[in-house]
Amino acid sequence: SKRIDVSSNSKDEIYELSITFNEMLDRIESTFAQQQRFLADVSHELRTPLTVIESYANLLRRWGSKDPEIQEEAIREIKSEAERLRQLTESLLDIATIERENVNLAPLELVSFLKKSIKPFRHVYQRNIRLQVEKRQVFYPISEQRLKQLLVIFLDNAIKYSEKEVLVWLNEDQDFVEMGVKDKGIGIPEEDLPFVLDRFYRVDKVRNRSTGGKGLGLSIANSIASRYGGEMEVKSSPGQGTEVIVRFPKENLAGAKPMA
Ligand code: ADP
Repeated sequence: SKRIDVSSNSKDEIYELSITFNEMLDRIESTFAQQQRFLADVSHELRTPLTVIESYANLLRRWGSKDPEIQEEAIREIKSEAERLRQLTESLLDIATIERENVNLAPLELVSFLKKSIKPFRHVYQRNIRLQVEKRQVFYPISEQRLKQLLVIFLDNAIKYSEKEVLVWLNEDQDFVEMGVKDKGIGIPEEDLPFVLDRFYRVDKVRNRSTGGKGLGLSIANSIASRYGGEMEVKSSPGQGTEVIVRFPKENLAGAKPMA
């Protein structure tokens, strides 16, 4: 490694400098490792549907003209895997966009935004979605499209992994604006909780392949939060439910930075 080794009894300033340098090096190395892993994960995610498409295409070529049932099945599977690939590509493109987009925006009024955004969910999913807000108006400078995306990711999961009512809440205090989505569903096992914000992480891979999840929703939400200088928190107890919170700082708004 290229680390600088300066014994602690050398001049204080040089010692301090060596620490800063080594910390920088650690950060660069860990970012590099993250990117390597991300690339490996993406390749893996691309390979699976491609393999399925390839084998069904072969099946189609061999038997398609003789057996209409096989033909039907092959076309259905190829279409559905192509759809997976399309969604995956769109999510990846989205991740790249979030990290570059402008975040110096005009304030958005969040209470009316939430009221208006939750309504269609109630109709589509026939689910009781409560909204809890203390204030009549809360302003925060965020892109309406990105905030909607956060809400959709949280609500999609809450509805997918629970059967009872869902609570959406908004809170503003001196330092933060927070939004949370709370369900009374299956919850997340303790050992999985630290990883649910990671890209491509799914608690139950079998369960999620059938429900169509790619393990990207919460990681995209996390990217959006970070872009605005905010952070995410996921609280959960298995069998009790899950609460996903996004927290935006009111000060230092100009300090919004690209993700590490
Ligand atoms: P996915 O697209 O698979 O839903 P996410 O990144 O949105 O991916 O979520 C990652 C994993 O976290 C999910 O696969 C699921 O296992 C778990 N999860 C997320 N939200 C909830 C929730 N509200 N209740 C239970 N499990 C959840």
